[in-house]
Amino acid sequence: MAEANGKAEYVVGVDLGGTKILSGVFKHSFEPIGSSKLSTKSQRGVEAVIERIARCVQDAIDEADLSLKQVAGVGIGAPGAVDFTEGRVIFAPNMEGWKDVPLKKDLEKHLGVPVFVENDCNICVLGVHVAELKAKPKNLVGIFVGTGIGGGLIINGELYSGFNHTAGEIGHMVVDVNGPKCGCGNKGCFEALASRTAIFQQIKGAVKDGQKTLLTEMLGDDLKDLRSGDLRKAIRRGDKFVDKVVETAAEYIGIGVANLVNILGPEVVVVGGGVIEALADEMMSVIVETAQDYAMPGTMKGVEIVASKLGDSAGITGAAVLARRETK
Ligand SMILES: [Zn+2]
Repeated sequence: MAEANGKAEYVVGVDLGGTKILSGVFKHSFEPIGSSKLSTKSQRGVEAVIERIARCVQDAIDEADLSLKQVAGVGIGAPGAVDFTEGRVIFAPNMEGWKDVPLKKDLEKHLGVPVFVENDCNICVLGVHVAELKAKPKNLVGIFVGTGIGGGLIINGELYSGFNHTAGEIGHMVVDVNGPKCGCGNKGCFEALASRTAIFQQIKGAVKDGQKTLLTEMLGDDLKDLRSGDLRKAIRRGDKFVDKVVETAAEYIGIGVANLVNILGPEVVVVGGGVIEALADEMMSVIVETAQDYAMPGTMKGVEIVASKLGDSAGITGAAVLARRETK
């Protein structure tokens, strides 16, 4: 319901991705009261994408029967390297022309409310830390498994982004020097072995080579509309091949967790993202066991490894947390 007094007590969280823009309006809880989704269309250029972000924000506000006047601030998680202080996207690899874009300034012109920009993975870990874990752990590692693998670090209760704002590139930790090629140019990055893209590529490649799977019965031979949830369905119907591919990906995630625990000694490691949301039951026990196998003796003592329940809404939730924090 619209509020007559028009007090700016709402915040909007935006998750800007290479393919879609999500936005949500939040009041005091971490449940959005209005949300919206638009395709990014980054091929249309930076200015067009910024207009689409503004539209997506407006749509979510409209959905909640509110007006911009009632919004105190907008938080945005943007892909790539972000300078939070200036609200500038330094470089976004999956977005055409996104080099040194003053996103905060440009979007404030469109919306007329304060805008705050952070790296999307940092935003997700912030969302999980505050909304899901009630900001309890002082040291936290977040790993988000989706199209790629992103990560974020909370150290001593604060987001850690490194001296040049690029820390937390967990997906590009090399875990197999002879592994498959990664989008970044290296070989055997964590992301090239265990992301949704990597899992789907392995499945599609094997099917091309004659591998039998329930997935082709479900979706046809080209597996065009394959989604993470289909993998869960196939596994639950007894598909040993899909089970093995998913288990192997979970083992790599476990190896990634062990490396991070060895280095950082966090209290909690949160594993989230669309793949985990769909396959937590199938993957989490393998992740935990493998992490324990690979970690140095003693480093895993008392460390919790948990699945995030926020799924795809971690981004908008974290962006709302940022906006709330910055407008207080
Ligand atoms: Zn890489």
